[in-house]
This record gives sequence, structure tokens and C-alpha cells, in this order.
Amino acid sequence: MALVNEHYLKLKAGYLFPEIGRRVKAFTEANPQAKVIRLGIGDVTCPLPPAIIKAFQDAVEEMATEKSFMGYGPEQGYEFLINTIIEKSYQPLGVELKASEVFISDGSKCDCANILDIFALENVVAIGDPVYPVYNDTNVMIGRTGEANEQGYYKGLVYLPCTEANGFNPAFPDQEVDIIYLCFPNNPTGAVATREQLKGWVDYALQHNAVIFFDAAYEAFITDPTIPHSIYEIEGAKKCAIEFRSFSKTAGFTGVRCALTVVPEELTAHTAAGEPIQLNKLWNRRQSTKFNGVSYPVQKAAAAVYSDEGWPQVKEIIDYYMENARIIRTGLAEAGITVYGGVNAPYIWLKTPNTMSSWEFFDKLLTECNVVGTPGSGFGPSGEGFFRLSAFCNRDNVIEAVERIKRNLK
Ligand SMILES: *Cc1c(COP(=O)(O)O)cnc(C)c1O
Repeated sequence: MALVNEHYLKLKAGYLFPEIGRRVKAFTEANPQAKVIRLGIGDVTCPLPPAIIKAFQDAVEEMATEKSFMGYGPEQGYEFLINTIIEKSYQPLGVELKASEVFISDGSKCDCANILDIFALENVVAIGDPVYPVYNDTNVMIGRTGEANEQGYYKGLVYLPCTEANGFNPAFPDQEVDIIYLCFPNNPTGAVATREQLKGWVDYALQHNAVIFFDAAYEAFITDPTIPHSIYEIEGAKKCAIEFRSFSKTAGFTGVRCALTVVPEELTAHTAAGEPIQLNKLWNRRQSTKFNGVSYPVQKAAAAVYSDEGWPQVKEIIDYYMENARIIRTGLAEAGITVYGGVNAPYIWLKTPNTMSSWEFFDKLLTECNVVGTPGSGFGPSGEGFFRLSAFCNRDNVIEAVERIKRNLK
């Protein structure tokens, strides 16, 4: 008799986005004339810029002739891409990496889930609240937790509340933890960590022999020059942190799929007997066995992100989204709403007015303004009373949505 992995049965049914879809569908069916504007999703909307399309197409052409055809590539990624990333994205930050420390993949979502393969189940894991749901659910799937309680907290995980009071930068855990997920700039709150705050986490991890999983999916959206883009800008981080980056939001690769994970050679975790083991070796072994690399044309397209022609085109799209974020942020503030984020991140995290719940505000925004956003409570209990709007959308829609909010909610 085949048995299932019963840990999956502990998961709450994917509730947030189906429920949003259900409510939007009910509203549009009842109000077919309404022009609904969606500021809810965490997906980019602009097409790939020309320099990237060109590199992508050229690489596809190479596949058409025997001489230039490419079969399996290195599981870790092609050196041309790894070296470009090191040179164009890390060296300018003062971060030196070896090619063997960078692993190319088809997404940060899978990497931050798969990384759990190389860690013992006994590790105590801390995640933010609210949080990118992948961190929570993948720990449930792998069997690190008990059941969820009524609030939605799983037994065995340590939740670090990210609240208005702490500026959405969580306090250190009040119990011993071994693995800490950090996401800056943050999805969903749009918060960033200063150099001092990141140094606090690195020092904490070094002191407790903990490992930080640093999700930097939104680093390209940082506008404040004092905010670190990489955890490795902090001294000692190579001894305690794994960094995840993605081309998804940076360069519109959500449908193309390319990302990278950095596992420094200095980084170790221990056997139960106390022997230090290089995590780089384990991750390399894991990837070589369970992954067969990202397609050649995709890696060529990714390398073009950093070309002299490509980067200005990519940057222009990032600036376009961040101007959207500014319009949303300032418009909502004019409507008397308390807003966070949207300065170094494409997400605006607003406080629902008049102590409305996240879902009450969702319904109000949908019915009175015909605007769709994401209830903060869907990202964790501490997100209750907050609401996420995304800057990934078309400018005219942003302007229209903000006008409607100002008109109706003031
Ligand atoms: C979008 C996103 C990612 C990127 O995921 P991909 O699989 O690379 O598309 C990673 N982390 C967070 C928090 C995100 O919002």
C-alpha cells in the first residue's frame, strides 16, 4: 500500500488567491460594467526589453545548427553567466565571490524550498510574520512542524512578528533558532533592512551558529544608496548566510525562469557529532543529482540583463514600476491612509483605515473603487489590519486606481 507524505495534509488549502479570485468574480458578474483594476498580484507586467529578446533569439538560433548546438550544460550554470553576475552585480558592491559559490537555477521559489534538503529536520527555523508563504509551507511539507493552530501558526516554527511598532524589522527570536529566513526588500511589507540591522542579524547568526537564508528577490528595486543589496556587504556574512536572487522581478523573467543562489565556501553547518561540513559541497551535490541546469537560451538572455545595452533597458522598467509605487504611495497618503513600503520595493503596505480588517478593506476597495489588492492577513496573522498593493502594473491603471481611491475613501 502506497502511503502519502501526511505532512502535506497539515497545509491549509491555498486560500488567499483563490478567495480573492472568487470575490472578484462574484463582483464582476454582478457588475459587468465595472472596470476592475488589479493591483493585487506579485507578477511583473512589462514585456522583456529588446536587448534581452535579441540575446534570447540569437541563442535559440544557435540551437539550430550542429556546430553551435548545446545539449546538457553544467548543473551549476554556465560560467559566462556566473562570471557576468559576479562582475556586474557583486563586485560593484565590494563583494568578491568565486564562480563555484554561485549556482544558477530556474527560480528562487524552488531554491529556497530545495535548500531544506541539505539541513537536518531537527533545526529550529524562524520565519517572519507576515511572510512569503513558500518559507512556511515548504517547512510544513518537509515535516519540520506539527499542526497549525487557529491563528495559522504551525507548531515547531518560530514566527517573528513584523509590525508597525518594530518598523516591520523583526526582533531577534526569544528562543534558540538554527535557521532564519530574511527577505529584504520585503514581500509583502516593502520594508528594507539598514546596514546596522543586517549587521545585527549576521552577528546574531555567527554568535548562535545559525544560518541565514537571505531572499534578495527585490534588491534591484532599492533606491536608497545606503541600503545593502546583498547580505555579503556585511562582514562575516559569508560564514553564516545563503543568498537567493532572481531575474524574475529584476528583469521580467517570471515566465522565462532564471535565478541564482550563493553558497559561500566558508559557510559550514555541523553534523550531530559537531563536525563542520561545507554547505557549498552539499548544495553542489544536491543540484548535480536532482537538477539538470537552466536552458542555454535562458542563461544567454539572463546574461544580457547586465550588458551595456541591456541594463539601461532593464533599469528603465524598474524605474517605471517605482514611479508607479510613488504614485500609489503619495496618492494614498493624500487620501489620509497610512502607507509603508513603496520606496525601495515595488509593494505598498497600507494600514487599513478605521481599524477595518484586511478582508473588510478588500471588499470596500473592490465594491467602492473597483480596485483589487491583497489582504495582509493572507500573509500571516500579523498582517491583519494591513493590505498590499503592487506597483507591477500599467501607469494609466495606477493613476486611475489612485484617483478612485482618493475620490471614494477620503
Ligand atoms: C517573486 C519572489 C521570488 C522569486 O521567485 P522565482 O521563483 O525566482 O520567480 C522569491 N522570493 C520572493 C519573496 C518573491 O516575492
